[in-house]
Amino acid sequence: MKPFRLNRASLDAIVANGEREFPYECCGFIIGNDAIEEVRPITNIQNRMHAADPAAHPRDARTAFLMEPKEHLAVLNEVDDRKLALKAVYHSHPDHDAYFSPTDRAQACSFDPNEPDYPDTAYIVLSIKAGKFARAAAFAWDSTRREFVEVTLEVG
Ligand SMILES: [Zn+2]
Repeated sequence: MKPFRLNRASLDAIVANGEREFPYECCGFIIGNDAIEEVRPITNIQNRMHAADPAAHPRDARTAFLMEPKEHLAVLNEVDDRKLALKAVYHSHPDHDAYFSPTDRAQACSFDPNEPDYPDTAYIVLSIKAGKFARAAAFAWDSTRREFVEVTLEVG
């Protein structure tokens, strides 16, 4: 599996997003191409959904994220319009390690449990402990093992 490369400015931006949203999860996208890379934070509406229907949404935003649908769609349209790639989906784990949880996997394969929605997109998880950045990890779909595996995250 090849490493995932992220610009320092992008890492700084998503770390700031994760620290700002603590104790709740942040979420968003990193879009771009070989020349450019841009971060698109998305509002996490998990608390709103949990408050409206706790039976359907038992978790609040401390342990889950749900992207605001209009903002989510706007990024997909932007990627399409500007002919960019969806390089990464990111979210944070407040007071938890940077691992790819069964929930993360299920969310990444929302249409088909054995196929990611975006097979060429990396998933970045940030561990934010006591409000401060602890670690970032990148995960990518291994089409042979048909599973997400951690890949080296190169920054710079
Ligand atoms: Zn997660």
